[in-house]
Amino acid sequence: MNDIATFDFSGKKALIRVDFNVPLDKETFSVTDNTRIKAAWPTIQQVLDKGGSVVLMSHLGRPKSGPEDRFSLKHIVAECERVFGHEVNFVSDSISEDAFEASAKLQPGQILLLENLRFYPHEKSGDRDFAKKLSQHGNLYINDAFGTAHRAHASTAVISDFFPEAKMFGTLINKEIESISKVLDHNQSPVTAIVGGAKVSSKIEILENLINKVDNILIGGGMAYTFAKAQGGVIGNSLVEDDYIETAKEILANAKTKNVNILLPEDTIAANAFSNDAEKQIVNTAEIPDGWMGMDIGEKSMGEYADCIENSKTILWNGPMGVFEMANFQHGTKKVALAVVKATQKGAFSLIGGGDSVAAINKFELSNHVSHVSTGGGAMLEYLEGKELPGIKAILD
Ligand code: AMP
Repeated sequence: MNDIATFDFSGKKALIRVDFNVPLDKETFSVTDNTRIKAAWPTIQQVLDKGGSVVLMSHLGRPKSGPEDRFSLKHIVAECERVFGHEVNFVSDSISEDAFEASAKLQPGQILLLENLRFYPHEKSGDRDFAKKLSQHGNLYINDAFGTAHRAHASTAVISDFFPEAKMFGTLINKEIESISKVLDHNQSPVTAIVGGAKVSSKIEILENLINKVDNILIGGGMAYTFAKAQGGVIGNSLVEDDYIETAKEILANAKTKNVNILLPEDTIAANAFSNDAEKQIVNTAEIPDGWMGMDIGEKSMGEYADCIENSKTILWNGPMGVFEMANFQHGTKKVALAVVKATQKGAFSLIGGGDSVAAINKFELSNHVSHVSTGGGAMLEYLEGKELPGIKAILD
Protein backbone atom coordinates (compact mmCIF):
# COMPACT_ATOMS: atom_id res chain seq x y z
CA MET A 1 0.00 0.00 0.00
CA ASN A 2 1.20 3.54 -0.73
CA ASP A 3 2.13 5.70 2.22
CA ILE A 4 1.48 9.45 2.05
CA ALA A 5 4.56 10.08 4.21
CA THR A 6 6.95 8.55 1.66
CA PHE A 7 5.12 9.01 -1.65
CA ASP A 8 6.79 11.18 -4.29
CA PHE A 9 4.21 13.83 -5.24
CA SER A 10 6.57 15.83 -7.40
CA GLY A 11 4.77 17.00 -10.55
CA LYS A 12 1.72 14.92 -9.61
CA LYS A 13 -1.90 15.98 -9.29
CA ALA A 14 -3.46 14.55 -6.14
CA LEU A 15 -7.22 14.08 -6.15
CA ILE A 16 -8.19 14.24 -2.48
CA ARG A 17 -11.58 13.28 -1.02
CA VAL A 18 -11.94 15.51 2.02
CA ASP A 19 -14.81 16.04 4.43
CA PHE A 20 -15.79 19.68 4.03
CA ASN A 21 -19.33 19.06 5.25
CA VAL A 22 -19.06 22.07 7.53
CA PRO A 23 -21.82 24.06 9.25
CA LEU A 24 -22.71 27.36 7.55
CA ASP A 25 -24.48 30.41 8.96
CA LYS A 26 -28.06 30.30 7.60
CA GLU A 27 -28.05 33.93 6.50
CA THR A 28 -24.48 34.85 5.58
CA PHE A 29 -23.37 31.32 4.54
CA SER A 30 -20.06 31.85 6.31
CA VAL A 31 -18.40 28.84 7.94
CA THR A 32 -19.36 28.65 11.64
CA ASP A 33 -16.99 25.79 12.60
CA ASN A 34 -13.82 25.25 10.56
CA THR A 35 -12.59 22.13 12.42
CA ARG A 36 -12.92 19.92 9.34
CA ILE A 37 -11.14 22.41 7.09
CA LYS A 38 -8.25 22.62 9.56
CA ALA A 39 -8.19 18.82 9.83
CA ALA A 40 -7.73 18.48 6.05
CA TRP A 41 -4.66 20.75 5.90
CA PRO A 42 -1.87 18.31 6.95
CA THR A 43 -2.65 16.04 3.99
CA ILE A 44 -2.87 18.93 1.51
CA GLN A 45 0.35 20.36 2.92
CA GLN A 46 2.20 17.04 2.41
CA VAL A 47 1.34 17.07 -1.31
CA LEU A 48 2.13 20.74 -1.88
CA ASP A 49 5.40 20.62 0.07
CA LYS A 50 6.58 17.71 -2.04
CA GLY A 51 5.95 19.47 -5.36
CA GLY A 52 2.43 18.29 -6.18
CA SER A 53 -0.85 20.05 -6.86
CA VAL A 54 -4.20 19.31 -5.23
CA VAL A 55 -7.76 18.79 -6.46
CA LEU A 56 -10.17 18.72 -3.52
CA MET A 57 -13.61 17.11 -3.64
CA SER A 58 -16.28 16.87 -0.94
CA HIS A 59 -19.97 16.87 -0.26
CA LEU A 60 -21.80 19.54 1.72
CA GLY A 61 -25.21 19.06 3.31
CA ARG A 62 -28.04 17.12 1.74
CA PRO A 63 -29.06 18.63 -1.59
CA LYS A 64 -32.29 16.93 -2.71
CA SER A 65 -32.02 16.78 -6.49
CA GLY A 66 -29.34 18.75 -8.23
CA PRO A 67 -27.56 21.99 -7.38
CA GLU A 68 -28.84 24.22 -4.57
CA ASP A 69 -27.06 27.50 -3.91
CA ARG A 70 -27.16 27.09 -0.11
CA PHE A 71 -25.13 23.88 -0.41
CA SER A 72 -22.52 25.26 -2.80
CA LEU A 73 -18.91 24.79 -1.73
CA LYS A 74 -18.23 28.29 -3.06
CA HIS A 75 -19.29 29.46 0.41
CA ILE A 76 -16.25 27.87 2.03
CA VAL A 77 -13.55 29.06 -0.40
CA ALA A 78 -12.61 32.16 1.63
CA GLU A 79 -12.32 30.13 4.86
CA CYS A 80 -10.17 27.50 3.10
CA GLU A 81 -7.87 30.25 1.82
CA ARG A 82 -7.62 31.70 5.34
CA VAL A 83 -6.84 28.35 6.95
CA PHE A 84 -4.44 27.12 4.24
CA GLY A 85 -2.72 30.45 3.57
CA HIS A 86 -2.99 29.56 -0.15
CA GLU A 87 -5.20 30.65 -3.00
CA VAL A 88 -8.00 28.14 -3.63
CA ASN A 89 -9.42 28.00 -7.17
CA PHE A 90 -13.04 26.91 -7.39
CA VAL A 91 -15.08 25.42 -10.24
CA SER A 92 -18.86 25.44 -10.13
CA ASP A 93 -19.18 21.80 -11.18
CA SER A 94 -17.24 18.61 -10.58
CA ILE A 95 -17.30 16.93 -14.02
CA SER A 96 -17.99 19.71 -16.56
CA GLU A 97 -15.56 20.71 -19.31
CA ASP A 98 -14.66 23.79 -17.27
CA ALA A 99 -13.81 21.59 -14.30
CA PHE A 100 -11.48 19.38 -16.36
CA GLU A 101 -9.89 22.42 -17.99
CA ALA A 102 -9.19 23.86 -14.52
CA SER A 103 -7.62 20.67 -13.19
CA ALA A 104 -5.56 20.22 -16.38
CA LYS A 105 -4.09 23.72 -15.99
CA LEU A 106 -3.17 23.22 -12.32
CA GLN A 107 0.52 23.88 -11.55
CA PRO A 108 2.57 22.41 -8.67
CA GLY A 109 1.69 24.21 -5.44
CA GLN A 110 -1.85 25.08 -6.60
CA ILE A 111 -5.19 24.01 -5.12
CA LEU A 112 -8.49 23.49 -6.92
CA LEU A 113 -11.81 22.83 -5.15
CA LEU A 114 -14.59 21.09 -7.10
CA GLU A 115 -18.29 21.87 -6.51
CA ASN A 116 -20.40 19.75 -4.12
CA LEU A 117 -20.30 16.14 -5.32
CA ARG A 118 -23.84 15.49 -4.11
CA PHE A 119 -25.24 17.86 -6.74
CA TYR A 120 -25.08 14.63 -8.76
CA PRO A 121 -27.23 11.72 -7.46
CA HIS A 122 -24.51 9.49 -8.93
CA GLU A 123 -22.25 10.30 -5.99
CA LYS A 124 -24.43 8.61 -3.38
CA SER A 125 -25.48 5.78 -5.67
CA GLY A 126 -21.82 4.92 -6.18
CA ASP A 127 -22.14 5.31 -9.96
CA ARG A 128 -19.12 3.85 -11.74
CA ASP A 129 -19.14 6.24 -14.71
CA PHE A 130 -19.32 9.24 -12.40
CA ALA A 131 -16.40 7.86 -10.35
CA LYS A 132 -14.43 7.28 -13.55
CA LYS A 133 -15.03 10.87 -14.69
CA LEU A 134 -13.96 12.23 -11.31
CA SER A 135 -10.83 10.09 -11.41
CA GLN A 136 -9.68 12.00 -14.51
CA HIS A 137 -8.89 15.03 -12.32
CA GLY A 138 -5.78 13.45 -10.83
CA ASN A 139 -2.91 10.99 -11.24
CA LEU A 140 -3.39 9.65 -7.76
CA TYR A 141 -6.17 9.38 -5.19
CA ILE A 142 -6.09 10.14 -1.48
CA ASN A 143 -9.03 9.39 0.79
CA ASP A 144 -8.96 11.60 3.87
CA ALA A 145 -12.70 11.79 4.59
CA PHE A 146 -13.13 9.53 7.61
CA GLY A 147 -16.64 10.92 8.23
CA THR A 148 -17.87 9.27 5.00
CA ALA A 149 -15.62 6.20 5.03
CA HIS A 150 -18.63 4.02 5.94
CA ARG A 151 -20.37 4.97 2.69
CA ALA A 152 -19.80 3.17 -0.61
CA HIS A 153 -20.14 6.38 -2.60
CA ALA A 154 -18.50 7.19 -5.94
CA SER A 155 -15.83 9.49 -4.47
CA THR A 156 -15.21 7.54 -1.26
CA ALA A 157 -14.93 3.95 -2.47
CA VAL A 158 -15.73 3.24 -6.15
CA ILE A 159 -13.16 5.75 -7.44
CA SER A 160 -10.29 3.73 -5.89
CA ASP A 161 -10.69 1.16 -8.69
CA PHE A 162 -9.32 3.71 -11.14
CA PHE A 163 -6.09 4.16 -9.19
CA PRO A 164 -4.95 0.57 -8.57
CA GLU A 165 -1.31 1.65 -8.16
CA ALA A 166 -1.73 5.15 -6.77
CA LYS A 167 -4.26 5.25 -3.92
CA MET A 168 -3.61 5.98 -0.28
CA PHE A 169 -5.05 7.29 2.98
CA GLY A 170 -4.54 10.87 4.06
CA THR A 171 -3.03 11.73 7.42
CA LEU A 172 -6.42 12.23 9.09
CA ILE A 173 -7.73 8.76 8.19
CA ASN A 174 -4.34 7.30 9.14
CA LYS A 175 -4.71 8.85 12.59
CA GLU A 176 -8.25 7.54 13.01
CA ILE A 177 -7.23 4.01 12.02
CA GLU A 178 -4.16 4.13 14.25
CA SER A 179 -6.21 5.36 17.23
CA ILE A 180 -8.87 2.73 16.94
CA SER A 181 -6.34 -0.03 16.46
CA LYS A 182 -4.55 1.18 19.61
CA VAL A 183 -7.83 0.55 21.41
CA LEU A 184 -9.12 -2.60 19.77
CA ASP A 185 -6.06 -4.50 18.57
CA HIS A 186 -2.75 -3.31 20.02
CA ASN A 187 -3.82 -2.11 23.39
CA GLN A 188 -2.30 -1.93 26.83
CA SER A 189 -4.46 -3.36 29.54
CA PRO A 190 -6.53 -2.71 31.52
CA VAL A 191 -8.74 -1.65 28.62
CA THR A 192 -11.95 0.14 29.60
CA ALA A 193 -14.87 0.98 27.33
CA ILE A 194 -17.37 3.54 28.55
CA VAL A 195 -20.63 3.11 26.68
CA GLY A 196 -23.55 5.44 27.26
CA GLY A 197 -26.24 7.22 25.32
CA ALA A 198 -29.93 6.81 24.94
CA LYS A 199 -30.62 3.30 23.74
CA VAL A 200 -29.32 -0.24 24.05
CA SER A 201 -30.65 -0.96 20.55
CA SER A 202 -28.17 1.40 18.90
CA LYS A 203 -25.20 0.08 20.90
CA ILE A 204 -25.73 -3.71 20.85
CA GLU A 205 -23.29 -4.43 18.06
CA ILE A 206 -20.66 -2.24 19.72
CA LEU A 207 -21.14 -4.01 23.05
CA GLU A 208 -20.98 -7.43 21.41
CA ASN A 209 -17.76 -6.55 19.60
CA LEU A 210 -16.18 -4.91 22.66
CA ILE A 211 -16.82 -7.91 24.90
CA ASN A 212 -14.11 -9.73 22.94
CA LYS A 213 -11.61 -6.91 23.27
CA VAL A 214 -11.79 -5.13 26.64
CA ASP A 215 -11.44 -5.76 30.39
CA ASN A 216 -14.12 -3.38 31.67
CA ILE A 217 -17.32 -1.98 30.23
CA LEU A 218 -18.93 0.93 32.09
CA ILE A 219 -22.54 1.44 31.14
CA GLY A 220 -24.36 4.74 31.59
CA GLY A 221 -27.05 6.94 30.05
CA GLY A 222 -30.59 5.92 29.26
CA MET A 223 -29.49 2.43 28.19
CA ALA A 224 -28.47 1.61 31.78
CA TYR A 225 -32.16 1.30 32.78
CA THR A 226 -32.89 -1.47 30.30
CA PHE A 227 -29.98 -3.36 31.91
CA ALA A 228 -31.30 -2.51 35.40
CA LYS A 229 -34.73 -3.89 34.46
CA ALA A 230 -33.10 -6.99 32.94
CA GLN A 231 -31.58 -7.63 36.36
CA GLY A 232 -34.98 -7.41 38.04
CA GLY A 233 -34.77 -3.74 39.04
CA VAL A 234 -37.74 -1.37 39.24
CA ILE A 235 -36.96 1.68 37.12
CA GLY A 236 -39.99 4.00 37.42
CA ASN A 237 -40.51 6.09 34.29
CA SER A 238 -36.92 5.81 33.05
CA LEU A 239 -36.15 5.27 29.40
CA VAL A 240 -36.47 1.56 28.66
CA GLU A 241 -36.55 -0.71 25.63
CA ASP A 242 -38.60 -3.70 26.71
CA ASP A 243 -37.82 -5.48 23.43
CA TYR A 244 -34.15 -5.49 24.41
CA ILE A 245 -34.40 -6.89 27.94
CA GLU A 246 -33.45 -10.36 26.69
CA THR A 247 -30.55 -8.90 24.70
CA ALA A 248 -29.33 -7.06 27.80
CA LYS A 249 -29.45 -10.34 29.74
CA GLU A 250 -27.46 -12.10 27.00
CA ILE A 251 -24.83 -9.33 26.98
CA LEU A 252 -24.43 -9.63 30.77
CA ALA A 253 -24.17 -13.43 30.59
CA ASN A 254 -21.70 -13.28 27.70
CA ALA A 255 -19.52 -10.79 29.59
CA LYS A 256 -19.47 -13.10 32.58
CA THR A 257 -18.33 -16.05 30.46
CA LYS A 258 -15.57 -13.94 28.95
CA ASN A 259 -14.49 -12.49 32.29
CA VAL A 260 -15.34 -8.96 31.24
CA ASN A 261 -16.25 -6.73 34.14
CA ILE A 262 -19.48 -4.88 33.31
CA LEU A 263 -20.27 -2.02 35.67
CA LEU A 264 -23.82 -0.69 35.85
CA PRO A 265 -24.62 2.45 37.86
CA GLU A 266 -25.58 1.47 41.41
CA ASP A 267 -27.24 4.81 42.05
CA THR A 268 -29.03 7.26 39.82
CA ILE A 269 -30.03 10.90 39.83
CA ALA A 270 -33.76 10.70 39.16
CA ALA A 271 -36.09 13.53 38.18
CA ASN A 272 -39.86 13.87 38.29
CA ALA A 273 -39.95 15.30 34.74
CA PHE A 274 -37.68 15.37 31.68
CA SER A 275 -36.59 18.92 32.41
CA ASN A 276 -33.62 20.76 33.83
CA ASP A 277 -35.92 22.38 36.38
CA ALA A 278 -37.49 19.13 37.55
CA GLU A 279 -37.22 18.03 41.18
CA LYS A 280 -34.40 15.53 41.65
CA GLN A 281 -33.24 12.91 44.13
CA ILE A 282 -30.53 10.27 44.31
CA VAL A 283 -31.97 6.77 44.36
CA ASN A 284 -30.81 3.20 44.03
CA THR A 285 -30.91 2.37 40.29
CA ALA A 286 -32.87 -0.81 41.06
CA GLU A 287 -35.49 1.13 43.06
CA ILE A 288 -36.60 4.14 41.06
CA PRO A 289 -40.05 5.26 42.28
CA ASP A 290 -43.05 5.53 39.98
CA GLY A 291 -43.24 8.96 38.34
CA TRP A 292 -39.45 9.40 38.50
CA MET A 293 -36.93 8.81 35.74
CA GLY A 294 -33.18 8.22 35.70
CA MET A 295 -31.41 11.24 34.20
CA ASP A 296 -27.78 10.75 35.27
CA ILE A 297 -25.59 8.30 37.16
CA GLY A 298 -25.44 8.95 40.94
CA GLU A 299 -22.53 10.16 43.09
CA LYS A 300 -21.48 6.68 44.17
CA SER A 301 -21.43 5.41 40.57
CA MET A 302 -19.49 8.49 39.46
CA GLY A 303 -16.80 7.63 42.03
CA GLU A 304 -16.68 3.96 41.02
CA TYR A 305 -16.52 4.77 37.31
CA ALA A 306 -13.83 7.41 37.86
CA ASP A 307 -11.70 4.92 39.84
CA CYS A 308 -11.96 2.30 37.14
CA ILE A 309 -11.12 4.82 34.38
CA GLU A 310 -8.18 6.32 36.26
CA ASN A 311 -6.67 2.85 36.68
CA SER A 312 -6.97 2.00 32.97
CA LYS A 313 -4.24 2.13 30.35
CA THR A 314 -6.50 2.18 27.30
CA ILE A 315 -9.87 3.95 27.23
CA LEU A 316 -12.63 4.17 24.69
CA TRP A 317 -15.61 6.43 25.36
CA ASN A 318 -18.81 6.40 23.36
CA GLY A 319 -22.02 8.00 24.64
CA PRO A 320 -22.87 10.27 27.59
CA MET A 321 -23.70 9.06 31.12
CA GLY A 322 -26.85 11.16 31.38
CA VAL A 323 -28.84 13.97 29.82
CA PHE A 324 -25.71 16.13 29.70
CA GLU A 325 -27.42 18.80 27.61
CA MET A 326 -29.23 19.85 30.83
CA ALA A 327 -26.92 21.54 33.37
CA ASN A 328 -28.44 19.67 36.32
CA PHE A 329 -27.83 16.26 34.74
CA GLN A 330 -24.37 16.72 33.23
CA HIS A 331 -22.32 15.82 36.31
CA GLY A 332 -21.86 12.09 35.62
CA THR A 333 -20.72 12.80 32.07
CA LYS A 334 -18.38 15.55 33.27
CA LYS A 335 -16.93 13.36 36.03
CA VAL A 336 -16.23 10.63 33.47
CA ALA A 337 -14.66 13.19 31.09
CA LEU A 338 -12.38 14.46 33.89
CA ALA A 339 -11.39 10.89 34.82
CA VAL A 340 -10.49 10.19 31.17
CA VAL A 341 -8.34 13.34 31.16
CA LYS A 342 -6.64 12.28 34.41
CA ALA A 343 -5.90 8.80 33.07
CA THR A 344 -4.50 10.35 29.87
CA GLN A 345 -2.23 12.58 31.95
CA LYS A 346 -0.96 9.43 33.67
CA GLY A 347 -0.07 7.91 30.29
CA ALA A 348 -3.22 6.08 29.19
CA PHE A 349 -4.37 6.19 25.56
CA SER A 350 -7.89 7.65 25.30
CA LEU A 351 -10.17 7.70 22.29
CA ILE A 352 -13.47 9.56 22.28
CA GLY A 353 -15.59 8.36 19.41
CA GLY A 354 -19.06 8.74 18.05
CA GLY A 355 -21.64 11.46 18.32
CA ASP A 356 -22.63 12.78 21.69
CA SER A 357 -19.56 11.93 23.75
CA VAL A 358 -17.63 14.11 21.29
CA ALA A 359 -20.21 16.89 21.83
CA ALA A 360 -19.82 16.41 25.59
CA ILE A 361 -16.00 16.57 25.65
CA ASN A 362 -16.17 19.69 23.49
CA LYS A 363 -18.80 21.24 25.76
CA PHE A 364 -16.51 20.73 28.78
CA GLU A 365 -13.57 22.12 26.73
CA LEU A 366 -11.48 19.03 27.45
CA SER A 367 -10.92 17.77 23.91
CA ASN A 368 -7.27 18.89 23.91
CA HIS A 369 -6.60 16.77 26.99
CA VAL A 370 -7.45 13.33 25.60
CA SER A 371 -5.41 11.32 23.10
CA HIS A 372 -7.81 11.45 20.15
CA VAL A 373 -11.30 12.75 19.42
CA SER A 374 -12.68 11.04 16.35
CA THR A 375 -13.94 13.16 13.45
CA GLY A 376 -16.34 10.50 12.18
CA GLY A 377 -19.60 9.85 14.01
CA GLY A 378 -21.29 7.10 12.00
CA ALA A 379 -17.99 5.84 10.59
CA MET A 380 -16.52 5.45 14.07
CA LEU A 381 -19.63 3.62 15.31
CA GLU A 382 -19.47 1.13 12.44
CA TYR A 383 -15.75 0.65 13.03
CA LEU A 384 -16.42 -0.06 16.72
CA GLU A 385 -19.08 -2.55 15.68
CA GLY A 386 -16.34 -4.45 13.85
CA LYS A 387 -17.68 -3.68 10.38
CA GLU A 388 -15.52 -3.20 7.33
CA LEU A 389 -15.78 0.40 6.08
CA PRO A 390 -16.05 0.60 2.24
CA GLY A 391 -13.85 3.71 2.03
CA ILE A 392 -11.10 1.98 3.97
CA LYS A 393 -11.44 -1.40 2.31
CA ALA A 394 -11.20 0.23 -1.16
CA ILE A 395 -7.74 1.58 -0.36
CA LEU A 396 -6.52 -1.61 1.26
CA ASP A 397 -7.72 -3.94 -1.53
P1 AMP B 1 -26.64 8.38 21.73
O1 AMP B 1 -26.79 9.21 20.50
O2 AMP B 1 -27.31 7.06 21.68
O3 AMP B 1 -25.22 8.32 22.20
O4 AMP B 1 -27.47 9.15 22.86
C1 AMP B 1 -27.17 10.44 23.29
C2 AMP B 1 -28.38 11.01 23.96
O5 AMP B 1 -28.75 10.20 25.07
C3 AMP B 1 -28.15 12.39 24.54
O6 AMP B 1 -28.94 13.32 23.83
C4 AMP B 1 -28.59 12.28 25.98
O7 AMP B 1 -29.38 13.37 26.43
C5 AMP B 1 -29.42 11.03 25.99
N1 AMP B 1 -29.48 10.41 27.31
C6 AMP B 1 -28.45 10.12 28.10
N2 AMP B 1 -28.88 9.63 29.27
C7 AMP B 1 -30.22 9.62 29.24
C8 AMP B 1 -31.23 9.24 30.16
N3 AMP B 1 -30.92 8.79 31.35
N4 AMP B 1 -32.52 9.36 29.76
C9 AMP B 1 -32.83 9.85 28.55
N5 AMP B 1 -31.91 10.22 27.63
C10 AMP B 1 -30.63 10.11 27.96
